[in-house]
Amino acid sequence: MSSTKRVDVPSSILIIGSGVFGLSTAHSLCKNPLFKETSITLVDRQPFPTPDGSSIDTSRIIRPDYASPPYTRLASSAQSLWRTTFAPQHYHENGLCITASGPEQKYVSASLANVKALGTDKVKILNNTEHIKRVCGIANASGSTGYVNWSSGWADAEGAMRWLRHEVESFSRVQFIIRTVKSLLIDHTKSTVSGALLHDGSTLIADLTILAAGAWTPSLLDLRGICKATGQVLYYLPLSPSEEAQLAKRPTLLNLSTGLFMIPPSQGLLKIARHGHGYVNPTTIPHPEAKATSSGSTATITVSLPYTHLDSPTNTQSVPQEGQSACRTFLANIHPTLATPSRPFTKSRICWYTDTRTGDFLISYHPTYSGLFVATGGSGHAFKFLPVIGDSIVECVLGRTPEDFRGLWEWPKERVPEEMWGGDGSRGGPVGMVLAAEMTKGQSKL
Ligand SMILES: Cc1cc2nc3c(=O)[nH]c(=O)nc-3n(C[C@H](O)[C@H](O)[C@H](O)COP(=O)(O)OP(=O)(O)OC[C@H]3O[C@@H](n4cnc5c(N)ncnc54)[C@H](O)[C@@H]3O)c2cc1C
Repeated sequence: MSSTKRVDVPSSILIIGSGVFGLSTAHSLCKNPLFKETSITLVDRQPFPTPDGSSIDTSRIIRPDYASPPYTRLASSAQSLWRTTFAPQHYHENGLCITASGPEQKYVSASLANVKALGTDKVKILNNTEHIKRVCGIANASGSTGYVNWSSGWADAEGAMRWLRHEVESFSRVQFIIRTVKSLLIDHTKSTVSGALLHDGSTLIADLTILAAGAWTPSLLDLRGICKATGQVLYYLPLSPSEEAQLAKRPTLLNLSTGLFMIPPSQGLLKIARHGHGYVNPTTIPHPEAKATSSGSTATITVSLPYTHLDSPTNTQSVPQEGQSACRTFLANIHPTLATPSRPFTKSRICWYTDTRTGDFLISYHPTYSGLFVATGGSGHAFKFLPVIGDSIVECVLGRTPEDFRGLWEWPKERVPEEMWGGDGSRGGPVGMVLAAEMTKGQSKL
C-alpha cells in the first residue's frame, strides 16, 4: 500500500547522521538494486557508536503496543525480523506490562485493541493493582490498570546498532566520514540543497542530502514548530548475577501516567528511566538557513537542542535532582530491596528525543529545497523499527510513502507553537521543565 510519484534515482546521496534513521537508510540503499550505481556517503560528528547518540544504549523496548494502528502494523513487521534474521541475538522477548492511572489509560485501551487485532493470544488484561503486582513481580503496583503483552520485548540497542553497522560495512558501498556538518549547502536563488559544509571548511556534495541528525536536526534546518529536542533521564543500578537472572524473567514495566519505566537488566545493569515530556534546552544559534547579507549580520533563532556529556567541560553528565528523585522513588516502590541507601545508581544520562507535535516521524522531502530529504522525529519510539525503517525511508525517497503513513510522516502543513503540541498521548510526568532551571534547583550526584 503506497502512493506513487515517480522520482529519479540520485547518482550520489549524502546521509547526515548515523543513528537509527541514517544507518538504516544506508543499509536499505545498499540492498536496493535501484541504487546500485549511486554513491553513498554517511557523515557523523562522532566515531561509531556515537557516545551521546539516542540510538546507543543498553536497551530499548520493542513493542507493537501502539494507540495508532499504522505503527502497530509496522512494529509488528519489525518484530518478525527481530525474532528471526535481524540481530536476533540482541532481542529478548520477555513481555511488556503497560499501565496507567490517569488520562493515559486512553492510550492503553487503544493500544490493547490494536495488539488484539493482530490476533495474538499473548495479551492479558490487568484489571487491578494486585494483578499488576503479581505479573510484574513487584512490591507495590505502578499504575491502577493495564495489560501485559508477552509477545513484546526489548533489544540491546548498542549491540543491534553495531550489528547493523557491520552489515552496512559488508557491502563496501558506503563512505563513512567522521566530521561535524556546520550547515547545509543551500542555494537560495534556486531553492536547492547540494550537500553540506563541514566545520573544517570542506564540503560534501551530493544530488540528494538526507538529513537524519536526530535531536540535533533543528540546528541544521529551521524546524521551529515542527521538531524539538527534549531530554529524558536514565539511571542505571548494578545488580548481582542472581538478581539479574531473577529480573530477566520479568516483563518490562511502563507506567504511562508517570512515564517511568524499568527494562529487565542487561550486562549487570538495571535501567530506570522516564518516557516523559522531558526537559527543553532553548539555545540561540545562527539561523541555519540564513542568506548571506552584505552587512554580514546574522539572524538567530532559539530552538531546543541537546546538551550532552560531550558538551560539558568535564565530560560528565549531570542530571537534575528531580529526575533522580523520580527514578529512585519508582524503584523504591516496585523493588524496595534494590533502593536501599547502600545501593546507589552508578550511571546516569540525559538522552535526547526528537519530538514532533503528534509523535509521528518526519520522513519527507523538504517543501522548499529540492535535493533535501529529512528523516527524523523519532519522538522517543523509533528504535524498534530499526529492521524496517530504512526500507520505509527509501520508499518515501522514491515517492512511495506507505498509504497508512500518508499525512503522518509528510511535511506538516503548518508550524504549530510548541505549547500547543498534543503528542501521541503516551507521555506522563511533569510538563514544561527547562533543563537549566531544573539544574539550578539541584543536580544529582552519583
Ligand atoms: C532515553 C531514550 C529511550 C528510548 N526508548 C526507546 C524504546 O524503548 N523503544 C524505542 O523504539 N525507541 C526508544 N527511543 C527512541 C529511539 O532511540 C530514537 O527515536 C532513535 O534512536 C533516534 O534515532 P536518530 O537516528 O534520529 O538519532 P541519533 O541516534 O541521535 O542519531 C543522530 C546522529 O546524528 C549525528 N549528528 C548530529 N548532528 C550532526 C552534525 N552537525 N554533523 C554530523 N553528524 C551529526 C549524531 O552524532 C548522531 O549520531 C528512546 C530514546 C531515548 C533518548
